[in-house]
Formats: sequence, C-alpha cells, structure tokens
Amino acid sequence: MDHGLIIFDADGTLRYCSVEGQPCPNRDGEWELYPGVAEKLSEFEWRGPGEDGGTGYGIASNQGGVGAGYFSLDTARELLEDTFRRAFGFDPAPGTVQLCPHHPRSGCGCRKPSPLMINRIIDLYGLEPREVLFVGDSEDDRAAADNAGCDFQWANRFFRRESEGSHPENIEPERP
Ligand SMILES: [Mg+2]
Ligand SMILES: [Zn+2]
Repeated sequence: MDHGLIIFDADGTLRYCSVEGQPCPNRDGEWELYPGVAEKLSEFEWRGPGEDGGTGYGIASNQGGVGAGYFSLDTARELLEDTFRRAFGFDPAPGTVQLCPHHPRSGCGCRKPSPLMINRIIDLYGLEPREVLFVGDSEDDRAAADNAGCDFQWANRFFRRESEGSHPENIEPERP
C-alpha cells in the first residue's frame, strides 16, 4: 500500500491528553505524543504541497472543544501545529493542518465524518482520493475516509501499537 499523501487525525492518533478524565488537551502542557509516533513518521520522506518526491502529509482534526467553549480557535490551532512539529520534526506547510472548531451538534459541514477537511488537503496536493490514506482512531475517522473516497487505516495498526492499553479498539471517548 503506497500512498502519495497520508493525512492523520490528531487526538487518539498522534497525541493523547495527559490530564486524567479529559479527552482532549485544552491548553499547552496537557498532551503528549504517543510513544513511537515520531520514530514511525521519521521513516518517511515527507513533502509539502508543490514539492517534488516523497509523501504528502496533513492533519484533519475535529476540535469541538472550541465550539463548546473549552478553548479558543487560536489555542486549538497552536496545539495542533505544536503536535505536528513534535510528530514530524518540521513546520507544517500552510493549509496542511485542518481543524473543525464547531460544536459537535452544530450541524456544520466540516466536522468528520464529513470529508471536507480531507478534501481540502487532497486538493492542496492535486491528488486523487484513491492515492490518499487517512489514519485515525474513531468510527467518524473511518467514515470520513470512506466519504472522501480514500483508504483508511486504524492508528494503532499504522503505528504498530495494538497492545496500547488505554485505546484497545481505537474508540475515542465522546467529546461533549
Ligand atoms: Mg481521534
Ligand atoms: Zn465544522
């Protein structure tokens, strides 16, 4: 399975919240990369949109905590870009980190399982959906990949952490 672009979910996929009983980080210092994430990603040669060779990258993350009033849009974006930098080891190109800041029940058009965020990143790279892999930990991630027409892989499998105790089936706690 060789893909021209790999897009990742963030929470439960690249990072976990280090505050007990809280599903997502609300501020700096409340998250950690899962062990092995940076090591696995360092096996790839990554390329930004418009660059030659290698594999394209992106993040598509539901951040319903913004709409629910737990943290600001700026904070959500900074935390995701910090996550990207720690995971990949470089700055994300503009547009490659997509987030939905809307309340889960707002009925917005971008929240996964909508394919919109994935489609935006695919368009940046000018690829076809079948050339793309989405890696996530929730049923909404799997459905978003289906809706975008791209391949899907569970994060635990991609990162070879099947035995990870806290996320046995990659089922993410529901954010309010
Ligand atoms: Mg997730
Ligand atoms: Zn949205």
